[in-house]
Amino acid sequence: LLQSATEAFERGEHGQAIEIAGRAETLAHEVDDRCALVGALRLLVALYSRDGQPEQAIVVGQEALQWLRDSEDHAGRADLLCNMAACFLELGLDEDALSHVSEGMEAARKADDPRLLCQAYNRIGLANGQLGQFDEADRFLLDALAIARELQNPEELYRTLNNLGVVASDSFDACRDRGDHELAAQAIARARGFAQEALQVAHASGNAYRAALCLSNLGRYLGVSGEVGPSFELLDQAYALAIKNGYRALALACDGIRAEVLVQAGRHHQAIPVLLIALERAQAMYSSGLVRDLHQQLYKAYKARGSMAEALEQHEKFHALVKTQLEQRSHTQSRLLLNRMELDQARFGAERARMEADLHRERAERMAIENAQLEAEAIELGRNLLADPLTGLGNRRQIDLGLPPLLVHAARSGMTLSIAVLDIDHFKAVNDRFGHPVGDAVLRALADILRTTLRNGDLIARMGGEEFLIALIDTPSQYARETCERLRVAVERYAWDDLAVGLHVTISIGLCIQVVGLDMAEILARADAALYKAKHGGRNQVAELAAAT
Ligand code: GH3
Ligand code: MG
Ligand code: MG
Repeated sequence: LLQSATEAFERGEHGQAIEIAGRAETLAHEVDDRCALVGALRLLVALYSRDGQPEQAIVVGQEALQWLRDSEDHAGRADLLCNMAACFLELGLDEDALSHVSEGMEAARKADDPRLLCQAYNRIGLANGQLGQFDEADRFLLDALAIARELQNPEELYRTLNNLGVVASDSFDACRDRGDHELAAQAIARARGFAQEALQVAHASGNAYRAALCLSNLGRYLGVSGEVGPSFELLDQAYALAIKNGYRALALACDGIRAEVLVQAGRHHQAIPVLLIALERAQAMYSSGLVRDLHQQLYKAYKARGSMAEALEQHEKFHALVKTQLEQRSHTQSRLLLNRMELDQARFGAERARMEADLHRERAERMAIENAQLEAEAIELGRNLLADPLTGLGNRRQIDLGLPPLLVHAARSGMTLSIAVLDIDHFKAVNDRFGHPVGDAVLRALADILRTTLRNGDLIARMGGEEFLIALIDTPSQYARETCERLRVAVERYAWDDLAVGLHVTISIGLCIQVVGLDMAEILARADAALYKAKHGGRNQVAELAAAT
């Protein structure tokens, strides 16, 4: 779409190009393609400004600027800002033009593109000229001229020379109105010099419009400096070119200049009919700037002729137009300001929403991490709660929490459940003889023996000190006895000597067969009693109390 809009633009089919570029803009919004969006908006700015819709161009340009403001596309920004500045100039909003072109100049410098810089200097020069700051205007335009000469770019050279002529001629008008005739003469001489060179460039590049424009400008400069004959010759040439090529506005401007020259030369009688015809044509073309100027010329002509009633009428019309134009200008200005404020607000809104979303996401991420940490800590804590740190077996709490459900389950399912309590023999002596660290190592080794000898599902826990409890689940009585005996033998035969030379460890086991139906306290009391029996029987043995009935 952008491509075909550009092609339509190049063919001069502005209406069609605007329609296609508008579709490209909508589509770019939909697919959220920032680059294409800016491309479409920039194209629309150029199109609206060529199509005589400067205000619309600015509205679109303001949106494009939103997207380009923080971008690295300095050339794009410079071009956009300069185009917008031209629109502001056209609307008479000189201050806005100046601020945009200043920003554009900065961007052009950053883009390091001499042609863009030349364009920016031209626009800033013109804006200064319109503000009556002729010296400033000259300074920028002469800088632009230097660049254009270096670039040997006929378009930029023509544009710059022409603008220098326009500014010098505006300066002439100002000096003449002030009554400073010497400065006025200097200014118009400068204007003629620039226009003459511009004409040469226009002729050399074969561009009819530029040539016609130059001829009309030069005609004016000659005319206002009193050379009416040569002026009219040039104006005739400009007019003929304009008519031949269909430049209606330019043809009209030629009539206006002709009349102005006649008025200035004191030939009011000749000037008035020319002015009246030009006025009629300008009104038909809705060229309000020209209409206003023609009313002023007519006022001067009538006044000079002594027709005061007509002069007054023209004067009133001129002022009425100036007034409506000023009003329109301030309306336009406030509309554009409003538009920019709305865009800023939308942008800040979007930025705030994005920041809030970022904040929410960060917070959620932080919370997820904290949660995971807490969960891990809770798991670790749970493990610590039930585990014995020295041996890694269950601890007393595990017995208190784990045994009752086992009992309930065994009672319901009819499984057998036997409990044994085992205790290291003369462990105090081990500590005393080999030291506490060896005692600890013995406890850990015993835990390993328990883990490897017993089944996975069996409950093994350290009750405290050197006393352990084991629950033998779903194990027939005889099998429970054999398991305890196997344990006792495993401990007795363990290579304790590897831990400490001369170390020997045995255990005593008190077994309580089939504890289903008893409560915890009863079970532990009975197991303890059995253990007591084993100790008193000479240690290193398994003892058992008769099962409860
Ligand atoms: P008995 O054959 O009658 O059981 O004699 P014993 O010496 O094993 O019994 P006693 O209850 O008199 O001594 C238990 C010793 O166990 C006392 C204590 O120093 C030691 N002990 C308890 N907990 C630990 C421990 O975590 N590490 C070490 N190294 N020793 C411990
Ligand atoms: Mg003990
Ligand atoms: Mg002991």
